[in-house]
Amino acid sequence: MKTTDRRSFLQASLGGLAGLASVPLAATLEGCQQLPVRQAARSVPARPLPSEALTDRIRVISGAPGNVVALSAGDGVVLVDSGSQALAPAVRASLAGLRAHTLINTHYHPDQTGGNALFGAAGASIHAHEITREWLATDYYVPAEDRWVKALPAVARPTVTFSERTALTVGAEHIDCGYLLEAHTRGDIYVFFRDSNVLAVGCVASPERDPSLDWYAGGWIGGRVDAMSELVRLANDATRIVPAYGPVVTRVQLQAERDMMQKLYDRTTAMTDHGRSAQDMLDEGVMEGLGRTFHDPYRFLYDVSKGLWAHYTNFGGNIV
Ligand SMILES: [Zn+2]
Repeated sequence: MKTTDRRSFLQASLGGLAGLASVPLAATLEGCQQLPVRQAARSVPARPLPSEALTDRIRVISGAPGNVVALSAGDGVVLVDSGSQALAPAVRASLAGLRAHTLINTHYHPDQTGGNALFGAAGASIHAHEITREWLATDYYVPAEDRWVKALPAVARPTVTFSERTALTVGAEHIDCGYLLEAHTRGDIYVFFRDSNVLAVGCVASPERDPSLDWYAGGWIGGRVDAMSELVRLANDATRIVPAYGPVVTRVQLQAERDMMQKLYDRTTAMTDHGRSAQDMLDEGVMEGLGRTFHDPYRFLYDVSKGLWAHYTNFGGNIV
């Protein structure tokens, strides 16, 4: 990439208009707890979203509604996640005219994959865990909202999938992707930009929002603790860790969230062994002394409880 291109890429948030918005109401899904996005008028040019440069070639675009990581490499851009359908034109407008030739989905939720159709139709190759592809290729039920979500069109589905780990090299950047078993859904991955030391972790870390466990899709608190331990091992003190929502965090901050989840795992498995419900756990103080205030602790515990009952053999449950 020419220097002038890189500069314009890095400064994209300061101006420039590209693309036309055609934005249906964004879907909501229990997994990511995203807020509904108001429907915008057609034919309104999408404006670039706020962004933060992490290195000379990696930016985090925020407000899509979550974070999208953009690596400028070769003759275009590698994206980690594509934003919601409603906000995908704004994600594209944030690329300063560069084409996204590669898109990697961290998991199947619509606020990470809603822009797949837009970027896929423009020729991006879409990479994901094979289970993410299965979710996106199939109609699925959202129990918390008692509704079905239709499969994405073929152009929006991942075409390059893997089961454990994979690697690709784009320009000067070596990118590792690895499976995080049952951490938030059943198809979560991390995306590690090795040379830039930037680690995108999707919804497997949540420094501000309540941690989300999509139990219906296989996520559970034990999987989350194991996955966060793996991410801590991958990182070093200089790694910039990018969650799906919230600020970029350090390894120390990720370790603190992992330790909180471990504490919650120990408490909730012990209480589930004794037949406690989510409300019982809340009433008995399971959320106290965590050093963090949850927005909706009952909702979190409900999802924890559902996931524990689905995995009771994993923690040696001798459930009453
Ligand atoms: Zn999610």
